[in-house]
This record gives sequence, C-alpha cells and structure tokens, in this order.
Amino acid sequence: MTTMLRSGDPDYDNELAGFQTAVPRRPDVIVPAASAVDVVEAVRHAAEHDLPIAVHSTGHGVGVPFEGGVLVTTHRMTGIRIEDGVARVDAGVRWGAVIEAAAKHGLAPLSGSFPGVGVVGYTLGGGFSLLGRKYGLAADQVTAIEVVTADGELRRATPDTESDLFWALRGGRDNFGIVTALEFRLVPVTRLYGGSLQFGTESLSAVLHAWRDWAADLPREMTSSLGMVPMPDLPMVPEPLRGQHVAQIRIAYLGDAAEGERLVAPLRAAAPLLGDTLAEIPFTESGKIANEPPFPHGYRADNATVSELDDTMLDAILEHAGPGAPVPTVVLLDLLGGALSDLPEHPGVGWDREARFTVRALSVVDDAGMAEIKAAHGKLFDALKPKSTGKLLTFVYGDSGAGDEAAKVYSPADLRRLAEVKAAVDPANRFRLTHNVEPARDAG
Ligand SMILES: Cc1cc2nc3c(=O)[nH]c(=O)nc-3n(C[C@H](O)[C@H](O)[C@H](O)COP(=O)(O)OP(=O)(O)OC[C@H]3O[C@@H](n4cnc5c(N)ncnc54)[C@H](O)[C@@H]3O)c2cc1C
Repeated sequence: MTTMLRSGDPDYDNELAGFQTAVPRRPDVIVPAASAVDVVEAVRHAAEHDLPIAVHSTGHGVGVPFEGGVLVTTHRMTGIRIEDGVARVDAGVRWGAVIEAAAKHGLAPLSGSFPGVGVVGYTLGGGFSLLGRKYGLAADQVTAIEVVTADGELRRATPDTESDLFWALRGGRDNFGIVTALEFRLVPVTRLYGGSLQFGTESLSAVLHAWRDWAADLPREMTSSLGMVPMPDLPMVPEPLRGQHVAQIRIAYLGDAAEGERLVAPLRAAAPLLGDTLAEIPFTESGKIANEPPFPHGYRADNATVSELDDTMLDAILEHAGPGAPVPTVVLLDLLGGALSDLPEHPGVGWDREARFTVRALSVVDDAGMAEIKAAHGKLFDALKPKSTGKLLTFVYGDSGAGDEAAKVYSPADLRRLAEVKAAVDPANRFRLTHNVEPARDAG
C-alpha cells in the first residue's frame, strides 16, 4: 500500500501546503502519489471507506475549503514525453517544464501567464493562453486524458473512446476523477514580441479607455490583457512603481517585432510610461510578460465574462477596484475573441466562446478579511451584470461562498449533461470536495 499521511504525521502539513494559503483543508488522509498506480490505490481506499476525494497539484486553483476525506497530491508525477508534436505529461507537471522541453523541438505549449501553474488543473479549466487568440484554448488541443474514476479504474478518454468523459473533464475538472496524464498538441512557436507597458495612477482611466479602444480591431496573432495592480508603498517595490496603482498592459504578439512595434504605438502614446519591457523574446521567457509574484499567499478571486466594456463599465471598474476601492484589488481584463471564439471539432464545456472580454478581480487576504473582499468583489460584479455573459470557474479562487458555482458557470443543458456523465462515473458523488456537479438522480 502506498504511503498515507494523517494529521499529526511530520510531513502532513508540508504535503498540504501550496500556492494558495487562505483556503483551509484538513483531509483525514493525504496520499502523496508518485504514479497512476498510487492514484488507483488511493481512490479504491476512499471507495472502501466511503470517503470523499480531492486532488491537489500546485495549489494555485484551490476553491473549496473542506474537512475529512482523502486528498491525493500529484506533484511527484513529473514525467514529460514529446513525440510527433504531441506532449504527454503526468499529473504533477508545471508549465515551466513543458515550455523548456517543447522548445528543444521548436514548439510551445498553450501555457498561460505564470509558468508555475500546473498543466492538468489549467487545461481542465479551459486554459487561457498567451497564444490564445491565435491557437484557442489549451483544452482544445487535448487528444487524450488518462483518469482514475470513482470505481478505481484507470480509463483513457479521447474523442472516440469515453467521449462523454472526454467532453466533461475539459471544463468539469475534478468532478469526474483524478487525471493521471494528459496528451495535447504543441504549436510551432519559438519566439514572440512581448512584455508589458506600465503607467501610473493618474493615467489609469486614460489607459483603460485607450486599451479598450485599441482592442477593437486586432489580428489573431495579438493576445493582450490589462492589469490594474495596486503596488505597495514598500522599499521592495522599484521606485517608479512604488505606491502607484499601476496599469500594466501585457502583450504577446506572434508576428515580427517591427509589426508589433507598429501595433502597440497607440498604447505607448496613451499616457506617460513608467515602464516598457516590450521586446522580441524566446518563448521560454514568456513568464516575464506578466511577471507575477511567485511566492505563496492567500487570495480570493472572482470573474465575469462580458460582451463589451462600455464607458459605464470602465467607470464601475475604477470605482469598485481602483485606487479609492475599499479593498485593494488587482483587476485583469483579458481580450478574448479570435480562436478563443472558434468552436473546435471536439469542444469541452464551461468556456464562454461568445464573450469579448473577461474581467477578473483578485484581492490578497492579508490586506482585508475574506468577508470584506467578497462584499467588495460582489459590488464590482453586480455593476457589470447588465453586460455579463457568464463566468469562468478556472478564475474563481478562494471562498466563493454561495456553493452554487456550477449553476452560474454551465448552461442548464450542459449542467444536465455533466450530471448524467457524473451519474455514470461517480454515482456516489465521491468527487464532491470541489465546485460540485451532482449526479443526475434520474439518469438511466
Ligand atoms: C498566478 C496565477 C496565474 C494564472 N494564470 C492563468 C492563465 O494565464 N490562464 C489560465 O487559464 N489560468 C490561469 N490561472 C488559473 C489556473 O489555471 C487554475 O487555478 C488551475 O486550476 C490551477 O491548476 P493547478 O493544478 O496549478 O492548481 P491546484 O490548486 O493544485 O488544482 C486546482 C484544481 O485543478 C483541478 N485539478 C488539478 N489536478 C487535477 C487532476 N490530476 N485531476 C483532476 N483535476 C485536477 C482540480 O479542480 C483542482 O481543484 C492562474 C492562476 C494563478 C494563481
């Protein structure tokens, strides 16, 4: 039998630790899995003892606090193989390792802003990539998923075998089992023109409007987000940014650098610049574009997808999440469209392909209490409601409160189909320590 850690064991707390520190979880048993066989044993143990099961890789996307049950950790499962443009990665692999391995083949994965994020959790949530407007969602490139379901069976889901499970996992995440390995196509990218432009507090409104207008007509080769980031007034923050509510425009452009320069010229001219890191870079340095903090912390985040960003909405974002906001809040606006709106041959579930932008809000729990943050985020998203088209589960972090996230994220038809798949593979709802999809009670 594989190792099992219980509360009080010397390694229990270390094994539980991850990037998110503000969501308490106290499983009865932690199973540090080193292989698919360990995952099978853990799931069979949970079935024999009628216990719920959860999975944890890096801890970036922890959503739901819980006590009891079995937690399987996957960070020891780090195998990567690349063949014929397809990567096969084990459940504990982070994007940074795939980026390095793919570069040796002149290829890149559809990774996101932060290389420390886990490949499986990211991809099962859709996967909004730095190359997303050109190549679509990471989940669209998946060709096979190996998963241990609640009966302790290791299954292989592809468009042709276990096709309902293949659909449900890509968006339904850990409701259906523990993924042990993923296979997905890589794309022919080795470099890009990218980095960020940074502006100070007094330019926030002008930059928000300039980015929104600029984003109206861009080639698919351009993927861009705008961050509004309150920088602490501390010596660790470099001088021009210290104490500023920085507007950070992130750029990842797949055309040549000269054309990139031409495209971003209106942004550079929008307001006085505090920083400008735009340059031609190898894809292996793509983590520098957003330059997100690498250290674990406690945070709460929510989001909405929207059909547009009109002036009233920009005013609401500034009012509820700008410098005068009651709780310091990082806002990220992502431009969608392009290939992110295309329907692939075998789509997953839970990604809003009609939306034009996402609006994400994130606050650090030390800066304010969870309840205070929840109230502040609530006001922001209430104000955006008239133009909201949905929400993405992958950008919900920390206590989301209501417990009905599934109903907010999936359409009624998709939720019904997910519930039917759930009834087929997990009728006892053992995988429920998450944003849960309950099994359909009337399924055949
Ligand atoms: C700093 C930061 C940057 C981010 N940038 C992006 C980005 O650019 N684009 C984007 O799309 N997302 C991004 N995300 C969101 C991220 O993709 C999700 O939080 C994702 O769930 C993280 O997966 P993980 O495995 O790293 O985290 P974990 O917290 O370990 O896992 C999160 C969830 O993933 C699922 N999961 C993980 N492993 C398995 C498994 N083996 N089997 C079944 N389910 C599993 C489960 O639902 C689990 O609760 C970012 C998050 C952070 C904190």
